[in-house]
Amino acid sequence: MDFAFERRRLGKLTPEHILPKLISAAEHFGFREFSMRELQSANLGVTRAGVESAFGSWSDGMKALRAELQKQGMSLRPRNTKRLSDDQLFTEMARIWTLVGHRPSRYEWEGSSPAYWYKTYKKRFGGWTNACLKFLEWQMGAPVELSNGDPRVRPDVAGHSASTHTSCATETIDPVRRRAPTARLRLQVLDRDSFRCVLCGRSPALERGAILHIDHVIPFSRGGPATLDNLRTLCQRCNLGRGNAMSLGHPLAQDKS
Ligand SMILES: [Zn+2]
Repeated sequence: MDFAFERRRLGKLTPEHILPKLISAAEHFGFREFSMRELQSANLGVTRAGVESAFGSWSDGMKALRAELQKQGMSLRPRNTKRLSDDQLFTEMARIWTLVGHRPSRYEWEGSSPAYWYKTYKKRFGGWTNACLKFLEWQMGAPVELSNGDPRVRPDVAGHSASTHTSCATETIDPVRRRAPTARLRLQVLDRDSFRCVLCGRSPALERGAILHIDHVIPFSRGGPATLDNLRTLCQRCNLGRGNAMSLGHPLAQDKS
């Protein structure tokens, strides 16, 4: 099953050989306890079998690791004895987002002395981008709304009347799908626009009270499709204040007007 184990076993794996690797692994896991399974899947050049071979058992290996860390003045935090709340995770995200001034990359996150591991977010929210979206919605206190591009009309209300205009659309896309981008598409739009208004730059991540919409550049009622090109991130203020004017200079707007 584990060829490295078989091969190394012949050469007698020693604690001295494995311990430094366990310490790097501890570092990799942010100095919290980790399981055999986590160690295996992290692919750090040390396997469960290696630990067992050198120390006799996994738990003896962990004991040796703790002892060694203690010598160096460090320790392993207990793993999720209690699940972190979303509030805890988002509060920390707000701190780091503010610190770097934009949506933090993995490297920015890890360089900001985070209280929680980057991977914790990925795991909890199914990816970093999704974690960012959930954070924004937490800040906004509401989901990112979809705007159909027609000003001052609530999207959910406009949807019914607008659906009668599908005949003027040039594309033969299911009107429901066309008006309502999938969650994945919305996420792509937000991600592309760095989770902030493309006109004024406001973001709920940095400004309490800011609200983001996903907006149709060409309004839905004029046949504007729900495609990445025709969608953009606007704050509520810019979205509602833009009147009837389509965004000038936008390639789709010029093509169709
Ligand atoms: Zn704006």
